[in-house]
Formats: sequence, C-alpha cells, structure tokens
Amino acid sequence: MQQILGLVEKPARYLGNEWNAIHKDHAGRVTIALAFPDVYEIAMSHFGLQILYHVANQREDTVAERVYAPWIDMERQMREHGLPLFALESQCPVREFDLLGFTLQYEMSYSNIINMLDLAQIPLLAKDRGREHPLVMAGGPCAYNPEPLADFLDFVVLGEAEEALTEIIDVCAKAKAEGLDRANTLLALSRVPGVYVPAFYEVQYHDDGTIAKVKPLVDVPDIVYKRVLADLRPEFYPTAPVVPFLGTVHDRLMLEIFRGCTRGCRFCQAGMIYRPVRERKREDLVQLAQAALAATGHNEISLMSLSTMDHSDLSALLDELLGQLGCDHIKLSLPSLRADSFSVEQAKKVQQSRRGGLTLAPEAGSQRLRDVINKQVTEDDLLRAVANAQAEGWQSVKLYFMLGLPTETEADLAGIFDLAKKASPLFGAGWQAIKSDSQCRRLCSQALDPLSVGTPSFHVFTGREAALPAEFVLDRSQAQTQLPWCRAQLLGGHFLAG
Ligand code: SF4
Repeated sequence: MQQILGLVEKPARYLGNEWNAIHKDHAGRVTIALAFPDVYEIAMSHFGLQILYHVANQREDTVAERVYAPWIDMERQMREHGLPLFALESQCPVREFDLLGFTLQYEMSYSNIINMLDLAQIPLLAKDRGREHPLVMAGGPCAYNPEPLADFLDFVVLGEAEEALTEIIDVCAKAKAEGLDRANTLLALSRVPGVYVPAFYEVQYHDDGTIAKVKPLVDVPDIVYKRVLADLRPEFYPTAPVVPFLGTVHDRLMLEIFRGCTRGCRFCQAGMIYRPVRERKREDLVQLAQAALAATGHNEISLMSLSTMDHSDLSALLDELLGQLGCDHIKLSLPSLRADSFSVEQAKKVQQSRRGGLTLAPEAGSQRLRDVINKQVTEDDLLRAVANAQAEGWQSVKLYFMLGLPTETEADLAGIFDLAKKASPLFGAGWQAIKSDSQCRRLCSQALDPLSVGTPSFHVFTGREAALPAEFVLDRSQAQTQLPWCRAQLLGGHFLAG
C-alpha cells in the first residue's frame, strides 16, 4: 500500500484518518462498509452516506466504515499488486465485512458498482456468493427501480434508511450470533419493512420490457413499501461529519432543513419519492448547526433541501442563524432558488456582503412547457426576480433550462431565447460573449450530449407523453450542424452586468 500511494494522484483519497472518522475494533461487532460508487471528492460531498455512517456508528455493536471508487490510476495499481478494495478506516478488505452497502444516486454509477465488486474480489452475481462473502445491499433514489441491478444485489432498501438500517443491523447481529446461513439471513431481512430481496421474487416482463408482474417465490411480502421517516429527529443528524483532507465538490457543512418538496414538478424524481414534506424545527436547526460547526471547523453552511425557499420558517431561521453564528465568520449558502422575488429577498439576507452570481431555474422556455412539467413559475416571476437581483447588486444571473422534455417543440426551444432576450436588458446586460466557433461547438455538444441530458433527474411522465418526438433526439453532429448560433449562446445561458 505504501508503495502504491507514491504512484497515484491524490493519495489522500485513500488514507482515511480524516477529522471525525470513526475507528472501532471489528471483533464482536456487525461490520458494514458503506460504499459510494464514485471518486472520493464526489462521495465525500454526499450527505446521505454521512447520515448512515453516523446512525450505524451510534450503536456500540456496529462498526461502519467508508469505501469509495478508486480513481483509474489507483485501480490500475491495486490490480497490478493484487490489492483488494479496502475500507478507509481500517484498510481491511471490504470482502471481509458483514454488509457492503451501495448508495444508488445516479444510473451512470452502476458500472462502477460492478467494477468495485470485482476489485473487492466478491462474486458479481448474488447467486454465486457464499457464507464467506458480505451481503451486498443498495439503497438511495435509484433503488426505487431495483431490477436493473437485481442480479448483483442480495437485497435492496426502498426509501429512507435511517430507521431501516438499525432494523437491518438487528437482524444481522442476531443472524451472526445464531450462525444463520445466507439464505435464512436474507429471509429474515425480507421481513424488515422496505427490504426487497430480488432472489425471492420472479419478475415477469411484457414484450416492450415493462414489468408485467412481480411474483413472490417464497413467503415474503407481495408488495414492498418504501420506508418514510415520519420525523427528522435530531439524533439522526450527523453533528460530527467526517471532514475531508482534500478539496471536495461540496466542501462545507450541510444542514438539511427539510425533506420532500411541495411543488410536484413532473420531471422530478426527488420531488416524487421524498414525499411528504417534513421540516426540521428552527431551534433544532440552530443547535445542530452550532454543534456541527464546533465539531468540524467548517466556515460555510449550505441550507440543504429540495427547495430551500419553501421552508415555512425560513426568514426567521436565516435571522437566527446569522445572529447566533456570526456572519463575519460563517457563510450561509442556498443551493437552489425559486424564480420569484421572494427568493431574491431571502438570498439578499444570506449574501449580505458578497453578491456574485444568482442561479434561477425556469427549466423550460415557454409557459406551455412550464405548465406541462408543472413548474409553477411565470415569465413575470422570472423577469421580476432578474430585475430585483440586478437592483440588489448581484453581478450575474444564470438561468437553468432543460432540453428534451416530453412534448417539447421548436417553439419551446425558441422560448428560451425569447425569455433570455427579455431578461438580459433588465439586468442592464448583454450576452456573455462567446469568443469562438469552438466554444460554441463545445457548449452545444456538452449540452446535447445524450449522456448529460437528463442525467440530473429523470422524468416521471406516464403514457403517451413519455415519448420524445424523434426530431428532438439529436446526436452530437446533428446538434452542431442543426442548432443555430444563437441557441448555442443560450445553452451557455449566462449574462453579465455592466
Ligand atoms: S424540481 Fe425542485 S421544485 Fe420541482 S419538485 Fe423537484 S425539487 Fe421540487
């Protein structure tokens, strides 16, 4: 290991021992490797895994460690030296743990899961694993459709895992004490609400690939319902999250202020699966923030949720946080803004000194398409927000749009241009100049790359609407030749003051 670390870029990705990392003896405990199937900088930015790490390690009888996908240089070295995938805290091979749990955040990571299993020297298919291998589980937003990975997983947790994880650990601790074999442990796990064991079901498909029937093969529930945490209790919040050694994508404290979203945008998976809305109380949030800041030394807090501006007590929360934490030292940030003047008013409070860029998300260029996706933002809302932002001193405004929405037409795409054309003079601005043809082509191909379009969220439209008109399925070369110059500018979508 020592030799290898000298040969790879960013060895700190593999060292463990970060501030607040938890080290426990494995003997006599249920051992869990919590896996994020992506590189350290992305994995360490994921709040959900920090929650589960905290929940599992709160138990005296359990040790939870982290394992992330190694970068390609490290993977090459590990394979050359026969070094199996290991957990960061103990550096033990993950194949020696009782449980290996993957979080499924995006489908693009699925091939990394297979690669990590291979690197861990664990049989890829669940049916080929024996008593000596960990139970491979998965959860997270993509677990709502577990079938694409069903052959590789021993079990899947549907819904929010805070409570389910403790019940799973209870079952595993008992199974371990009683020496239960793999099949009987899985049978016991299938009794935990929210746990789906693919091997115990037969899935029948229609000719078009959609599921016709899911049939239990043994005495397990006919339907597995998702777990929902009724109350975001403070004890589930990780007040001492692990602080990374190196810069990560989100290098700040994450304060989840509520879960769920009332808006119901029809393209948004998160808005559907995290229902209903559950808010944390203001006084709890202030206490949690104080504790977490003291435990980490972070100087920035991101007020995290699906739609932060919708917290019913946001204004008072901002006042209290700014008052109690001292805005000279601690910066607050808001991840996403609704395109209306209320958002700008709140954002003004947060960004009292430095007002750089503000991001608004109208998502679609025409009111028709915004209505189709149930994005309750009007053109007036957006233009007012842009004008307010300009008046309040923001340096730039960025607008987010999605291409390829169901029922989209050329008129909707042209609407993006029209909207931006109306918005930019309000900002006293022109378009950010695109300097060259190559920059135009780059923006165009990036935005229309079939892999990048639609990756952040997948739509939940049903029936006929789901079919995207063939003329909008463009490949890169078509996109570059067919889309006019002005639209490429819009894909950049960024206009500056002055
Ligand atoms: S896109 Fe945003 S506002 Fe709409 S449902 Fe999803 S999280 Fe809520």
